[in-house]
Amino acid sequence: MRHFAVIGSGPAGFYTAEALAKAYGDAARIDIIEKFPVPYGLIRFGVAPDHQSLKAVSRRYDKVAEDANVRFVGNVAVGDAVSIAELQSLYDAVILATGAPDDRKLGIEGELLPGVVGSAEFVGWYNGHPCFADLSPPLDGKYAAVIGNGNVALDCARILSKNHHEFEGSDIVGHALEALDRSAVRTITIVGRRGPHQISMTPKELGELGHLEAATPVVEGDDFPPVEADDALEPGHRKSINILRDFAATGPDGSKARRIVFDFFARPVRIEGNGRAERLIVERTELDESGSARGTGETYEVPASLIVTSIGYHTPPIAGVPYDERGGKFANDGGVIGDGLYCVGWARRGPSGTIGTNRPDGQEVAELIAAALPPGGSSAKAGGVGLDALLAERGIRATSFDDWRSIESAETAAARPGSPREKLIRHADWLKVLGRS
Ligand SMILES: Cc1cc2nc3c(=O)[nH]c(=O)nc-3n(C[C@H](O)[C@H](O)[C@H](O)COP(=O)(O)OP(=O)(O)OC[C@H]3O[C@@H](n4cnc5c(N)ncnc54)[C@H](O)[C@@H]3O)c2cc1C
Repeated sequence: MRHFAVIGSGPAGFYTAEALAKAYGDAARIDIIEKFPVPYGLIRFGVAPDHQSLKAVSRRYDKVAEDANVRFVGNVAVGDAVSIAELQSLYDAVILATGAPDDRKLGIEGELLPGVVGSAEFVGWYNGHPCFADLSPPLDGKYAAVIGNGNVALDCARILSKNHHEFEGSDIVGHALEALDRSAVRTITIVGRRGPHQISMTPKELGELGHLEAATPVVEGDDFPPVEADDALEPGHRKSINILRDFAATGPDGSKARRIVFDFFARPVRIEGNGRAERLIVERTELDESGSARGTGETYEVPASLIVTSIGYHTPPIAGVPYDERGGKFANDGGVIGDGLYCVGWARRGPSGTIGTNRPDGQEVAELIAAALPPGGSSAKAGGVGLDALLAERGIRATSFDDWRSIESAETAAARPGSPREKLIRHADWLKVLGRS
């Protein structure tokens, strides 16, 4: 028998557990260890609440958790409740799938002013992340800005733009829906250092902006290179650029109360305001020969009393695990950190790619493990039994997949009309459902 510990229950963790379960069958036991009592990582706390079809991928992960050889061990923060060294003494291989949950900082003056929030915080607020439920982003001003040119920036802008009933069928948390109902925000500027050709926005997310009930996209035709330049783009990217070109050609719909303005070639320089963010100062840029943004010296103001920064994430280090400071992820070579220690997903690659991108990652690492420890062999490691003993010694009560099912049922029962669930947010609320308060 082999024993494997996968740390983190997001897509990367589940795909890895799935691949290991397939490779080893009954010859291995796999524990998915998660710091929250509830599973799924960014599927629960990141993916937009109005993208329910994407969140349905968790049904596939349920099947993995229901495999007799796989166990969900929630409420156990690795690096805190148990160390990596302890896990390595208990398991034949330890795979870090801890994601990249921390916002990268802009590093500009004024970034600490109230009203400036990272996208992990903002997204966590509307998605019921326990650390960000109390964020209370200022929605009392007319202007907001989102810094970044990726899909997360689009998610933030779209959520800020929707009317109440456009959230029907979503699982946006009640506190966010109420706050957005009262929002005074009318203009959301999406600020990007480079141009349309350099965006990391996908056609589906961009296309949605053309169908918002109360908001219209605003794109400047002059920001685009000649249309022939699009031929060199990869087809999906070209589709995105076509959507932006269409927005520019059609022009904004003046009948809509809100505007989502794309401000390309704008590099944030500083944030100003009297005790809170009031405006973002940006420098006009142009592309240099290598395609990087080069400042032109011309600056201007973007009014914004809410500024959401969406410029990337990093993985928090864990004691005893080599770390790549520059990349903001665990130092690894193709997923291998060291002997018996691996990483997958965003903790391996950094914050890029879709949910599905994490699948080959998990498969690759499972293959590496199977090559190093051929199925059929066994070891003297204690595995999950050893972990349970350690947790009991420390008075830590883990949650099981059945516990998650109970929490999920309570969330479904509490759902407001038209919503699949009303998420429980606090640790105490989760444990209360389990009769542990
Ligand atoms: C705002 C946002 C929206 C997105 N929307 C989409 C989308 O619409 N479509 C799409 O395809 N992709 C989307 N993505 C990307 C997708 O979410 C990621 O590709 C994917 O979640 C990465 O998987 P992961 O398992 O590496 O990390 P995560 O999903 O972050 O999972 C990491 C898990 O590890 C746990 N963990 C962390 N530290 C510890 C620890 N010390 N001990 C125990 N457990 C720990 C975390 O709690 C979490 O459950 C989005 C990403 C973001 C940020």
